Amino acid sequence: MQMDSGAKEQKVKISGLTFPRLKEWVTSELGMKPFRAQQLFSWIHLKRVHSFHQMTDISLSARNQLDLACEITAFEICNTIAADDGTVKYSFRLEDGEVIESVLIPDPPRLTACLSTQAGCRCGCTFCQTGRGGFRRNLRTDEIVAQLYGLQNSTDDRISNVVFMGMGEPMDNFPALSDALSIISDDRGICIGARKITVSTVGIPGGIEKLTQLDGQYGLAVSLHSAVESTRLKLVPVSKALPLRELKRDMMNYVNRKGRRITLEYCLIAGINDTLEEASALAEFAGDIECKINLLIYNPVEGAPYRRPDSESVNRFMQHLYPRCQAVILRRSRGSDIAAACGQLGPSGRSTSLN
Ligand code: SF4
Repeated sequence: MQMDSGAKEQKVKISGLTFPRLKEWVTSELGMKPFRAQQLFSWIHLKRVHSFHQMTDISLSARNQLDLACEITAFEICNTIAADDGTVKYSFRLEDGEVIESVLIPDPPRLTACLSTQAGCRCGCTFCQTGRGGFRRNLRTDEIVAQLYGLQNSTDDRISNVVFMGMGEPMDNFPALSDALSIISDDRGICIGARKITVSTVGIPGGIEKLTQLDGQYGLAVSLHSAVESTRLKLVPVSKALPLRELKRDMMNYVNRKGRRITLEYCLIAGINDTLEEASALAEFAGDIECKINLLIYNPVEGAPYRRPDSESVNRFMQHLYPRCQAVILRRSRGSDIAAACGQLGPSGRSTSLN
């Protein structure tokens, strides 16, 4: 049960409870009938109201009881910046003053919300603005969900897809992530199907395994960035704990168990991982995995010693991969002019990191 971190109120963060937990809590702790859980879940996650007093089909005495015992987390947007391509980056201030960033990416007919799972990140990827800023804390489930509702309430268009590629390593905050996945995909609420939700990871021990054990067919994206151990270690220092062979084992297990193709994210950085040797290693690593490869062009971040590759190197890299891999896509970087693109979200109020 998630309680307020402040000692004063100790109200339950009800918007962070999955439906089964909500039902158990309202019946055992508040002595309410089970149908109240259905009403509450619908008000909070479908109609997205912020106050119990807006719940007109719940009696006044029950509303007062709820008001004393729990609260609904809602974020105020403290800043938005729109990019030329329609991508919008949102900053939310949390109750303890932390600022996190989320991104809304229109790509008709899809509208994708990119969510953060941590304030900062402890993985320390050397190309990433978030990683360079260090780790501050995990987000709670209610905070992860509140980001999505903050984004949804800011637009008339329905959010169709969710990617966990914002600030933080989602698998490093797995309990909160897992409950958020359950709430977001629940058909009593905002109902974004598991197949429309993608969790991105750089690969930490046990992370992919835990996602494999969840019921939903969530999408999995692995931020590989190099299939050469020494290069990957330089870019993603935590890869030391999960070498490429073990990472590949976990990925293949995911594909076999879920029957879903996974995505490999590969951010091309000049002179580091854009060589033909790196392309060959990537082709060999990915050749027997049911996957697609998303190539991204590095977006410079302040203080990082890396450069964007030129178009000639990018083309050469792609030409080398095409005959050897099932699907290779050069992904448009969205929102790079507002620092909302991959690796750019950060603690300075500039933007988010995408795993
Ligand atoms: S790329 Fe992802 S995992 Fe790596 S430091 Fe940035 S936010 Fe963390």
